[in-house]
Amino acid sequence: MKWLKKNSVVILGEDDLVEEIMQKNELRSDQVVVLEHKEQLSKILYASEPELVVLDERKISASSNLLSDIFCKSPGIRFVPILMLVEDPDLSKRLFSDTVCGISFFGKDKVNVKEEFFDQVKELLQESIEVKFWGVRGSTPCANSENIKYGGNTSCVQILIPGSDRQLILDCGTGFRNLGNHLIKYKKDHINGDIFITHPHWDHIQGFPFFKPLYNQLNSFSVSLPEQYRGGAREILSGHLPKTFFPVTLNMLSAELTYITREEQREEFPDFSVEYLVANHPTKTAMYKFVIQGYTIIYAPDNEIPTTTSPIRFLEQFEEFIHSCDLLIHDAQYDNETYKKREGWGHSSWEVVVALAKKNGVKRLLLTHHDPDSQDDRLSEIDEKLKSYKGNPFLEIGLTKEGSRIRLPIGCSRTA
Ligand SMILES: [Zn+2]
Ligand SMILES: [Zn+2]
Repeated sequence: MKWLKKNSVVILGEDDLVEEIMQKNELRSDQVVVLEHKEQLSKILYASEPELVVLDERKISASSNLLSDIFCKSPGIRFVPILMLVEDPDLSKRLFSDTVCGISFFGKDKVNVKEEFFDQVKELLQESIEVKFWGVRGSTPCANSENIKYGGNTSCVQILIPGSDRQLILDCGTGFRNLGNHLIKYKKDHINGDIFITHPHWDHIQGFPFFKPLYNQLNSFSVSLPEQYRGGAREILSGHLPKTFFPVTLNMLSAELTYITREEQREEFPDFSVEYLVANHPTKTAMYKFVIQGYTIIYAPDNEIPTTTSPIRFLEQFEEFIHSCDLLIHDAQYDNETYKKREGWGHSSWEVVVALAKKNGVKRLLLTHHDPDSQDDRLSEIDEKLKSYKGNPFLEIGLTKEGSRIRLPIGCSRTA
């Protein structure tokens, strides 16, 4: 596992478990941190960003509260997957059902840890493109307890590309603030990257002036936005930040910023290519298509797939655009019932998106831009229904959750 950095695997478990994980994954000793007790967990998580944490329940005697305390206090740490070895996985699942950490349980007998656990470790240590969700809510942030599981921050996605130290960031909703804090914590300065804003509705730009890396002159970013009725990228962002609405204006940001009024045509960047199709939405909105190391990723958080009116040309173009893509992240703010009352508002129902994605051979489908009035219970119900499409035909399907990620392994068959 040459690509792994230092302290990538954190283990709180017996010596033979540590040895087996290291041996099966050809890990160097500096890539593994072996803990003696649970009090050391917080410290290591705040000092480095491990790829995964393995916990043996006998060593930690964890409660749901303890894990939430360690893994959920800082939004960036919630992304770290926890694999926990337990006597009874079904019982543990029930006991930990209210935690929002990304935790999976694996049963073990007295001597041997089950093979599926080791397969999961291997999968998580495979070099991958990572797509992280920092904000998945549509329209307006909703910091309510009934939204905590799926998250209350508005649109922001980070794509991490192996071998690149540039940030690729999609949309600057309120999730963008947490991403900025996280980057500063682990990287401090010389943070460079490309920011693609789909459109300037509040829920896609409100986090912009709260992104701390913009206040450091050692950092640099390009900021892309499709041309709007009232101007290009710079004019629109500066119009959003006059002193009447917010004390910071664009001129007060010290990072080196390049504003790009983006055209639809494909453009090559050193680590990816990008193009977009204009969405069916009340202002000019991009559905960005990125090609990264052979994977096609489409980000379309605001797009209404029409059901009764028939802009045939739009549907044809859209279907062609998403055809056979590896990952589609698409607007599903409503269900069919709600859509009837919201037709023309610029958002889709999940049922229609699933059908169209299925028809067009989309490989992985993540539905996003959750309605602020959709509480966790309702979203969990939809997620449960979506499970029946896993493997039928989608490789992955579900709702996006703040603090969750999807990984696209490098060097694997992309058509599997
Ligand atoms: Zn939106
Ligand atoms: Zn919008």
